[in-house]
Amino acid sequence: MITVEHLTKSYGSTLAVDDLSFTIEDGHIYGFLGPNGAGKSTTLNILTGCLAASEGTVKIGDFDIFENSKEAKKLIGYLPEIPPLYVDQTPREYLDFVAEAKRVSKKERPAEIERVAKKTNIIHVLDKPIKYLSKGYRQRVGISQALLGNPQIIILDEPTVGLDPMQILEIRELIHNLGENHTVILSSHILSEVQAICDKVLIIYKGKLVAFDTPENLGKITSSGSAIEIGADVSLDETKEILSGLEGITSYENVECSDKHNLFKIHVETKDITDISKEIFKAFANKDVPLYKLNPVKTNLEDIFMELTSDSEGDNIITMEEKEIDSSITA
Ligand code: ADP
Ligand code: MG
Repeated sequence: MITVEHLTKSYGSTLAVDDLSFTIEDGHIYGFLGPNGAGKSTTLNILTGCLAASEGTVKIGDFDIFENSKEAKKLIGYLPEIPPLYVDQTPREYLDFVAEAKRVSKKERPAEIERVAKKTNIIHVLDKPIKYLSKGYRQRVGISQALLGNPQIIILDEPTVGLDPMQILEIRELIHNLGENHTVILSSHILSEVQAICDKVLIIYKGKLVAFDTPENLGKITSSGSAIEIGADVSLDETKEILSGLEGITSYENVECSDKHNLFKIHVETKDITDISKEIFKAFANKDVPLYKLNPVKTNLEDIFMELTSDSEGDNIITMEEKEIDSSITA
């Protein structure tokens, strides 16, 4: 368990972390979501004892990260944003070096390196210099060093940045598997990524915690006040006519029109985008007009942050109870 209370960090006049308080329970995968500059890396660097805070406390289990840093750090494996890899070394040499620093005994080290290498699937490249490895494999080596000593908590700072789509899927699967035996915290600036991997999400914006919720509930925020794309072989006027009985549609937009195929975007104010999507489907079906597209449009992350921060009136943490939204779609 991690307990953070009133954590604050300033770099000169820049307030990078602004009075953060939250608790991380054991046995979940937590996502730390926020745009660039939100304060994610600063927070994670403080949580892992790599950086001093200006104010506030961090407890890892029973240990204060500043006062009992040796004991606290033992409970954490950390992959920083820029992993400190020595590219001339092989993964085996590098992992041996890190294991020694983590005080794994010389006798136990070979078996421990094999254990983490199996978990991250790098056994076959253990003796190949890191400089010849792909970015995806380098990241696996970075995750391997975090796993050495089998710490209870694994913290990964933007672990998929710079990877190609295939490598991203592989690293996500690896993180998912780590969640079976560890508490995992990962940071990301990509909403869909934390929604795909995490079961709890903390949203951080301008150094403040603006939401702490499940990805499902987060999806509800993102789908209220959003848009739906509709593709049908009818005109915009006919579409308006077909949907005239529906509540919640605020405006219509032409996206693409050809002789036959038309694509419109309708903006909706609704608590449940699934419900209105069903209504739209039914309305078209009743008129015997087939749809070739009916697609909720993703709200982008900046929009969500804007909405969350404006609703939070400064520094409240939003929970869905307060927002009273009861839809269930993930945008
Ligand atoms: P994130 O990881 O969410 O992108 P960071 O924690 O790296 O955010 O940065 C938060 C804020 O603190 C940014 O405004 C950034 O410019 C600033 N910052 C980060 N590190 C330093 C530093 N070493 N010196 C001065 N400002 C910094
Ligand atoms: Mg960062």
